[in-house]
Amino acid sequence: MVKVYGEFYGCSANKADYEIMIGLLKDAGMEIVDSPKNSDINLITTCAVKTPTVNRMIFRSNELTKFNKPLIVAGCLSKIEKERQLIEKINPKASFVGPDSITKIVDVAHATLNGEKVLSLERVYEEKVGLPHLKTNPIVDIVEINSGCLSSCTFCATKLARGNLYSYRPHSIREQIKQSIKEGVKEIWLTSQDSSAYGRDIGTNLPELLDSIIRIDGNFFVRVGMMNPLHFKKVEIKDLINAYKNEKVFKFLHLCVQSGSNKVLKIMKRGYTVEEFVYYVERFREEIPELTLMTDIITGHPGEDEEDHEQTVELIKEIKPDLTVLSKFGARPGTQAAKMGQTPQKVVNERSKELSKIIRHVSYERNKRWLRWEGKVLIDEKVEGAVVGRNYAYKPIVIKENLGLGSTVNVKISKVTRYALTGKLV
Ligand code: SF4
Repeated sequence: MVKVYGEFYGCSANKADYEIMIGLLKDAGMEIVDSPKNSDINLITTCAVKTPTVNRMIFRSNELTKFNKPLIVAGCLSKIEKERQLIEKINPKASFVGPDSITKIVDVAHATLNGEKVLSLERVYEEKVGLPHLKTNPIVDIVEINSGCLSSCTFCATKLARGNLYSYRPHSIREQIKQSIKEGVKEIWLTSQDSSAYGRDIGTNLPELLDSIIRIDGNFFVRVGMMNPLHFKKVEIKDLINAYKNEKVFKFLHLCVQSGSNKVLKIMKRGYTVEEFVYYVERFREEIPELTLMTDIITGHPGEDEEDHEQTVELIKEIKPDLTVLSKFGARPGTQAAKMGQTPQKVVNERSKELSKIIRHVSYERNKRWLRWEGKVLIDEKVEGAVVGRNYAYKPIVIKENLGLGSTVNVKISKVTRYALTGKLV
């Protein structure tokens, strides 16, 4: 029996691709092992979103090459030519599988084991739902709802890897969810590059999909993946808010703003204004005051001056997101922004340092609202000496008990930090 070792990096969509690939390999009779020492072939599912991450992928591919076993490189980096070539220099025999060719993984594995080098990078329009998949967490099913997106943001390498929007049919998505609920899954993560663009190519949309999912029988939560505010214009916001108000939907909104300056949003080709972003957040918070808001900020994008940076600082202070993913701009090969005049690295570092400090303070202030909160928590993660649970607002709550994944307990919040809340059983 062929032994396969695999690892993945990056977003939930990449993780779902990984779970499908190892699911297909296992279905084909291969054994999934937990160390490259014991494997016959290794699989790395790469992320290419930021330069530091890419450097890590190349470093890790080099480490796996040292085991002197066949290597398959999957994920977004396989589609970024310049960086794929860097891995080919390290391992000329490595095979590559693009995000849209994952169902070819069994053939690629056999060919690579036979010493062939395979480049499976073509875009295959197929639904990545209802396929065999090995869940890395038994109570969480990551369900891709579409691949690609409808935007062409100037900084984005993911677009180069995953291309234009291809939405999966609501029926196929629901069938996977029904099957997962039967298998004991408690959390459904709807994921894609841009969940708010869902259905635009097949005559439906995210609120309709969510509505149909929450009507599925069973005791489960739905987490809606990251969204670009651009498509909120086209989605009936009140319909989305109504779907969010259903008890099955985590009160968690991941809406990526990227900058607090309209000038920079224009340069980024994001297609919305800061005012529109603020309007959507306020509409959600009016109806769901305890909503957990997550957003993304890029600092130092070409064209961003001191005044633009100040506007981003002001936006964070005004909107107070619970979580902010802050990225230093880094030119990604093949993107439009890479051809623009770059912001000096020293300036990028200074702006990032200032923003990080404000973001830490804001996250802590937001978490302080939950001190002494009491209620139900779903245990969905095991960590060193504790478990982590999620309440209805998808707040991470650390509980120093040995509780089973998927169990629900009542807790009272005894301590808060900027990262998480600490709960005691009641
Ligand atoms: S919406 Fe923009 S940032 Fe997101 S994947 Fe698409 S192009 Fe990239």
